[in-house]
Amino acid sequence: MDNRFQTRRQFLKTSALAAASVPFVGAPVSSARAAGPERKIGFALAGLGNLSTHQLAPALQKTKYCRLAGVVTGHPAKAKLWQAQYNIPDQNIYSYDTMTQMAGNPDIDVVYVVTPNGLHAEHTIRAAQAGKHVLCEKPMEVSVEKCQQMINVCKAAGRQLAVGYRLHFEPANLECVRLVRNKVFGDLKVINAGFGFRLGDPAQWRLRRALAGGGPLMDVGIYALQATRYLTGEEPVRVSGLETKTDPVKFSEVEESIAWQMKFPSGVIANCSATYNAAGMDYFAAYADRGWFQLHPAYNYNGNRGTRSDGQTIQFPDIDQFAAEMDDFAQCILENRPTKVPGEEGLRDVKIMMAIYEAATSGKTVELA
Ligand code: NAD
Repeated sequence: MDNRFQTRRQFLKTSALAAASVPFVGAPVSSARAAGPERKIGFALAGLGNLSTHQLAPALQKTKYCRLAGVVTGHPAKAKLWQAQYNIPDQNIYSYDTMTQMAGNPDIDVVYVVTPNGLHAEHTIRAAQAGKHVLCEKPMEVSVEKCQQMINVCKAAGRQLAVGYRLHFEPANLECVRLVRNKVFGDLKVINAGFGFRLGDPAQWRLRRALAGGGPLMDVGIYALQATRYLTGEEPVRVSGLETKTDPVKFSEVEESIAWQMKFPSGVIANCSATYNAAGMDYFAAYADRGWFQLHPAYNYNGNRGTRSDGQTIQFPDIDQFAAEMDDFAQCILENRPTKVPGEEGLRDVKIMMAIYEAATSGKTVELA
């Protein structure tokens, strides 16, 4: 599933590994236990699917402040493979039902929730009630109410809640934010942004409304929405939208493609789209009164790059965005400071996406408070 963000080389390595519980490639890594004098934050990955297998576990090995301490999985056979690969002790293996027992396990500081969208609240709440900090994948949940509940429970437990917005740590996207803040091309006026790919397996949870919350908007359109919000530094005040289905059987529960427009308080207009049925949509373009810049690709794991109207290019050496995101969260915990991607940020996106769906289904413009 996450093939869509990968380079060609990574793509070749990607397969149904996670789903099929096939052993990992390569030798076992060093102990999952804390090593050395520096305290590293112990992460437990909850949900051992594609993202955990191909991105998060390898990224954890590259972090400075984190270690893979445990896993939460519904599949004991998968747990065995992970234990062998990552040297995870028996007492750090949990199921979704037993994860509340983490309360007595000081080896685990953070639960990284990597399950289908509609299960994020359930798993976040269990982790927080066991006294763990939570890093939750995007989209935060499938409703505003569930996002709010996650925030409330983490607050009551005195635990931090962050959302896996990796692009907040990615140099090309950060450079674009700098271009706007420094008014390098003057005042921003219009943003065009889109993210989409051709979704394969028709049996996957991403096509089931209860687990996904929606279609490409919830899954990848959220990146285009995020881009408009971090570029402008503003919240949209008005949205309109349109959905379409050319394959109503495959897309019986969620939209196939969606386009939406947003107006921001400064007057910036954004035109955005997301699709599960077209290849290669992965960009944003920002137009200001004295010039423009764009990233294409904009939201990949690697290779994000762009151009500017003055002829300069936007390109940086690749970093592991997941390692950066996890190291930042670990530092927030170690230094007791707030994350820049808190639950409130995830909630804002879900609120806006619900308004986009409302606009697309009603045909009416929706005002956001
Ligand atoms: P996946 O289907 O590969 O993995 C999901 C995991 O959840 C599986 O291990 C599955 O066994 C487990 N699971 C537990 N209960 C389940 C249930 N009732 N139904 C189905 N699966 C269940 O999905 P994924 O691609 O790893 O995505 C997981 C989460 O990560 C999603 O929220 C997704 O949006 C997010 N994600 C984020 C990025 C990113 O770049 N930040 C990329 C891909 C996915």
